[in-house]
Amino acid sequence: MSNSAPAPLAAAASLAVGGSLESSALGGRATARPGPTQLMHEVGIMQSILAVAEQQARAAGAVRIHQVRVRIGQLAGVVPDSLQCAFEILRPPTLAAAARLEIEEIPPTCWCAVCQREFASPELWWQCPRCGAASNELRRGRELELASLEVE
Ligand SMILES: [Zn+2]
Repeated sequence: MSNSAPAPLAAAASLAVGGSLESSALGGRATARPGPTQLMHEVGIMQSILAVAEQQARAAGAVRIHQVRVRIGQLAGVVPDSLQCAFEILRPPTLAAAARLEIEEIPPTCWCAVCQREFASPELWWQCPRCGAASNELRRGRELELASLEVE
């Protein structure tokens, strides 16, 4: 009777969920100073992330979430450490009770219409380093989305 090997990890699957979460719709605005108010902001965001994650996991017939991967733009007004903290607070009653949270930070990236190319812009001054033209199009950097889930 030794053929009942407990290897649930073999059933782990990766779900690519591209659920985008609107920061403004989650009732929070970016605050410059960290503190209890800022953490409340991340708690609200994490509640939405976990709700979507559970919904997606259940839809895939999963009973457990091993990893939650989110993509956060550096201009999204979200503090990664606070988001991690909110995750620790909120995960126990969910399918993600034993899951890891992976945060992928996306640096601000603009589009130069003259050069027809993207350039990274850490400042709010969006000037193409190649031709000097000002960009009015921020392509990345405000993301707030659930990137993928690893479930079982
Ligand atoms: Zn340019």
